[in-house]
Amino acid sequence: MSIFPPTDGMRADSCPGALRPHRAEDGLLVRIRLPGGVLPEGGLRALAAISAVHGNGRLELTSRANVQLRALRERELDEVVRKLSTAGLLPSASHERARNIVAAPLQGRCPPGRWEIRPVISQLDRRLVAEPGLAELSGRFLFALDDGSGSVLSINADLCLFPVSDTVAGLVITGRDTGLRFPVEQAVPVLIAAARTFLRERHARSSDAWRLSGLPGGAAAIVRRLGEEFGLTAPASPAPLAPPSRPAALIGPLREHTGGYSLGVVVPLGTLAPAQAELLDDLGGGTATITPWRTVVLENLDDAAVARARRLLGQAGLPTDPASEWLHVTACAGRPGCGKALSDVRADAARLTQASEGAKSGVLPVHWAACERRCGRPAGSTVEVLATGDGRYELSGGNLTSPRAHDLTELPAAIAQARRITD
Ligand code: SF4
Repeated sequence: MSIFPPTDGMRADSCPGALRPHRAEDGLLVRIRLPGGVLPEGGLRALAAISAVHGNGRLELTSRANVQLRALRERELDEVVRKLSTAGLLPSASHERARNIVAAPLQGRCPPGRWEIRPVISQLDRRLVAEPGLAELSGRFLFALDDGSGSVLSINADLCLFPVSDTVAGLVITGRDTGLRFPVEQAVPVLIAAARTFLRERHARSSDAWRLSGLPGGAAAIVRRLGEEFGLTAPASPAPLAPPSRPAALIGPLREHTGGYSLGVVVPLGTLAPAQAELLDDLGGGTATITPWRTVVLENLDDAAVARARRLLGQAGLPTDPASEWLHVTACAGRPGCGKALSDVRADAARLTQASEGAKSGVLPVHWAACERRCGRPAGSTVEVLATGDGRYELSGGNLTSPRAHDLTELPAAIAQARRITD
């Protein structure tokens, strides 16, 4: 199997896939697409087993609710692919990198979400892989399906579907409401036609844009095409997309419309050890869903099951408390995965965050980076902890007026201070 991008005349994007690994410092990295963050039954357990045998034993959750495996050996790649296929995690070789679908993780089960989108996720995935031409979509092109909660409306998707009512959906392109409204039964055909039009426009202009935002006039061409194909026009005053307010983090027990609970679980630094993945698989009865915030949601639990799950998850290092410090801490790959890294930033971040769990140490999010590139830095106001290469970290952002380097013993107090919001 080639681990290099094909040359098809167009600039190929470098997004890794299961069949197109990225060569990292610690071995090969593969990314497995999970439309809507939904895993097939036993999927987490299967991924944990593959990573334990062939990789570093961990599962990395991504901001598109996918999973990455690291430190794979090149000679074992064919075996990894065979195991992924057997587990139902690689349903299409031709379209594996095009299956980029994020969805509201509660999928209409909990207020204010009202649209049961799991069937829509499946239908969109099936239609996507059934159309050979759509395999040309880049690994970065993104569909989003909202359930009416607004959970994924602000995610930077190329095409986003939002339910305006129980029977009518609206289309948002690159974050802008097109004003187009259509019956929910047309939702998937509309998205497929829109993606097809993007590729057609890309070819017509000999563009190598990977995403709609890189194709000037692309959104207008889609709106025109949807008018021709479905008779859709944007009224002068379309019903507004008005996402209701929602909880800040989908963590802890969340009441479902049916009376049961979904349970949001924090995954520290978005990384699962094999035993944690297996526990989530067991407790979720094969229904664990990964979210775009690198957390996991279990569903359809009763009171006793919630209490038991919270106890076992807490013992396994997976908090279910919305006040958990881990929700506010992110880190880049660092050593040993990245050749540019000046430290094992994830180990340092984990040690210090573990020590401060339970203590109210600030409000602002914290991002740890092992070099100046600052990969994975979240948008918005953030405290930065940057490796200096001499065992120390430079702290900046938050309420600090100037950066300052600290050793690891000084860092907890300095971070807590920087995270406090001052007037
Ligand atoms: S911030 Fe630097 S060390 Fe961290 S993943 Fe990016 S390039 Fe690598």
